[in-house]
Amino acid sequence: MKTYVVMLAGGRGSRMNASVNKILMPLCGTPVIIRSLQAFSPYADETVIVARPDEQKLIQDEITRFGLSLPFRFAAGGETRQQSVLSGLKCLSPDPSDIILIHDAARCLVSPDLIERIIRSVAESGTGIPGVPATSTYKLCDADSFVTDTPDRSCLYEIQTPQGFTAETIIPASLRAAEDGIDCTDDACVLEHYGIPVKVVRGDPSNIKLTEPADLERARSILEGGASFMRIGMGYDVHRLVEGRKLILCGVEVPFELGLLGHSDADVALHALMDAMLGACALGDIGKHFPDSDEKYRGVSSVLLLTETNRILSEHGFAVYNADITIAAQKPKLLPYIAEMKANTAQAVGLPEDRISVKATTTEKLGFEGRMEGISAYAVCTVVAKER
Ligand code: MG
Repeated sequence: MKTYVVMLAGGRGSRMNASVNKILMPLCGTPVIIRSLQAFSPYADETVIVARPDEQKLIQDEITRFGLSLPFRFAAGGETRQQSVLSGLKCLSPDPSDIILIHDAARCLVSPDLIERIIRSVAESGTGIPGVPATSTYKLCDADSFVTDTPDRSCLYEIQTPQGFTAETIIPASLRAAEDGIDCTDDACVLEHYGIPVKVVRGDPSNIKLTEPADLERARSILEGGASFMRIGMGYDVHRLVEGRKLILCGVEVPFELGLLGHSDADVALHALMDAMLGACALGDIGKHFPDSDEKYRGVSSVLLLTETNRILSEHGFAVYNADITIAAQKPKLLPYIAEMKANTAQAVGLPEDRISVKATTTEKLGFEGRMEGISAYAVCTVVAKER
């Protein structure tokens, strides 16, 4: 008994906001399609990769680059999922009892356990599709969004791939569905249409389908073991307020009668952030990387130093995930400048603005900040392994 895999790789990735097909996107250094092919390679006697003709060469190049040795061929995708599957099935010449696994390449976290459960189910009952029991309540609605029914949750499953069938089950049904013009959203549905029983086996919540950008982050977090790979850094800085200097905070020049004294532009907030970033990676502090004895840093914009700090992190395989900065100043009012401060900071570290927080507080006239002798800043950031 042989096992064949039909790997559906023809997605367009339009919801990924990416120009490239999502299955070619790297996930922790390895393209999604390669991860999916690797997962099945111990089980597959032969694999058909269903892909757009213009992407087959790119996929072939990745297979070569990663040294994957598996018997495979390409089939051109169709307009619909069902047509793509059929195009893949037509490339095969299996025996009736051989097993065919149909898989969405975008579910690249599929585990060996799950693949084995599906193969066992097909061997025992002719079919096997993975399902995760529903945890939410689902409603059936009419065309005007009025609820018509609430299905019993204990009977509902969210269906994944790989979907497994014997050749004698799936191939005739798929050919017949094409002739009858029946459109289905998954492969099991074709069998259901002709009254063929389909067995659901336990799915895997980690077997997510990569559809939108956040799914890539979820997948990364699953692959990297979640928070265990996250580092946290803390930074603190103080500069003296004097006359005749500009007040620059997170790269924004804030109109005020006093400014911060320092060798560089004395941007106390960004200095705290840089120390947090370097601290998270155990790479020293800004004094080590940008010594104030070095003339080239005289009057330099701290935004440039932040960009450089980000590059240093990147060189060591790290990337900032998020940062939170608090500026302690009695005066001036900073609220009108916060949005620009966030935008500057986010841009310098190449992050979306929703990952950067900048806050300001007074110290109720207490301490040196309260007496307006100086301004202090605190920063905390998290750092993750950079995507390679
Ligand atoms: Mg400083």
